Amino acid sequence: MNKAATAVAAGAAASLAAGALAHLLPATSSLRRFRNRCLPALSGVGEVGHVALTFDDGPDPLSTVPVLDALDGLGWRATFFMLGEMTAAYPDVGREVVRRGHEVAVHGYAHSSHIRHGPTWATRDVMAARDTIAELTGAQPQWVRPPYGALSTSTLIAARRAGLAPVLWTTWGRDWRPEATPASIVDDISSTLVPGATVLLHDSDCTSAPGSWKATLAALPMLAEAWAGAGLVVGPLLEHGV
Ligand SMILES: [Zn+2]
Repeated sequence: MNKAATAVAAGAAASLAAGALAHLLPATSSLRRFRNRCLPALSGVGEVGHVALTFDDGPDPLSTVPVLDALDGLGWRATFFMLGEMTAAYPDVGREVVRRGHEVAVHGYAHSSHIRHGPTWATRDVMAARDTIAELTGAQPQWVRPPYGALSTSTLIAARRAGLAPVLWTTWGRDWRPEATPASIVDDISSTLVPGATVLLHDSDCTSAPGSWKATLAALPMLAEAWAGAGLVVGPLLEHGV
């Protein structure tokens, strides 16, 4: 476990133990703002002027490659929080993410909320995902983001045991919703953008509305225009200064 992971896990655990936070940290926007301010590393608050772009739920043979193509076109690299079961099913797609220069991270083996599980289950799930992703993509993850962002004490214990740093997000596009459009995704991101933001999107609809990735894909060039105008640099969490 690296130093950052230890510090994040210890800080988050202390806050949880103090009873200052509800079990489900990112559930509401007010909690997200509180988390951004009080637990910046856990929220993914990085260097001002840099945006960490992150995608959850892949790799997916239908949607991940179009996302990779779009990122290539924009000259962007991102962090992909992969599912172990998707990586096991589509290892070629997982390897393609790495081949194109992106960072891989752990979302979980199964897409199951840690709120429903104890630390033993969460540890087994996170470690299985870490090992599957590392073995099949050839890249070593260093971050974990639990499914649904449902961070619990089980997540923190699992992260510590797996040597991964837990990271949620500061900013989201709510691109999983059936009613999401490219414009709504850009609006949601713009309205929740903070300095040093970590942005949550999805490169698979395996847990989202069918076809929702198409709106995400179409939002990317619109985000590029907005962020270029603001002078923001986009990259993976590895380069975010978390
Ligand atoms: Zn997810």
